[in-house]
Amino acid sequence: MNITFISAPAAGKGLISSMLNEKYGFPHVSIGDLLRSVDDENVRKQLENGEFVDNNLIAKLLKERLYRPDCKEGFILDGFPRNMSQISIYEDICEHVNDKKNIIIVLDIPREIGEKRITGRRVCLNCGYVFNEYFDKPKVSGICDHCGHELIHRSDDNIDTYDRRYDTYLKETKQVIDYFETKGNVYHVDGSKSSDDTFSDIEKIIGGYDD
Ligand SMILES: [Zn+2]
Repeated sequence: MNITFISAPAAGKGLISSMLNEKYGFPHVSIGDLLRSVDDENVRKQLENGEFVDNNLIAKLLKERLYRPDCKEGFILDGFPRNMSQISIYEDICEHVNDKKNIIIVLDIPREIGEKRITGRRVCLNCGYVFNEYFDKPKVSGICDHCGHELIHRSDDNIDTYDRRYDTYLKETKQVIDYFETKGNVYHVDGSKSSDDTFSDIEKIIGGYDD
């Protein structure tokens, strides 16, 4: 099975993709990771500034990765397609990569919950543990429960950055979802639940298929 995640920012697709990878073994292919692995100053700058990266480069990277033998039984794709200009690349790849079913999972999350997930995030730079001031508070504010280190609020975890990403999602990615809705292989899943609950909702969808 080929699972493509389309999701609003902070809906948890990275974590859910890793959980699916662990349980089903399909490789998790993130276009963000592929782009970050490119050794090119221009691409690095485009990523940093949130600018548009050339679709030809994206197509090349995706084909190199998805045509590898470990994707023969299926894959988990995240971060692509993001806008209508990428639909034809996606469909071309899906047609040639393997003979498995393609499903699109849309992880929905209300803007207000996404904002809290991002603005409330506190990270321990010592042990890597992540807390949230709204949903998963440390016992002592600003201090890591696990190692006692000070927690950091990263500067890019702010409401303006989040809202900009959410607006782009509404403007561009919703059209992609609408397009796939006409094909009938789209499943909406509530990404505002706990990751375990969201994961079990997805398992029910996957369980309905035999490949
Ligand atoms: Zn810690």
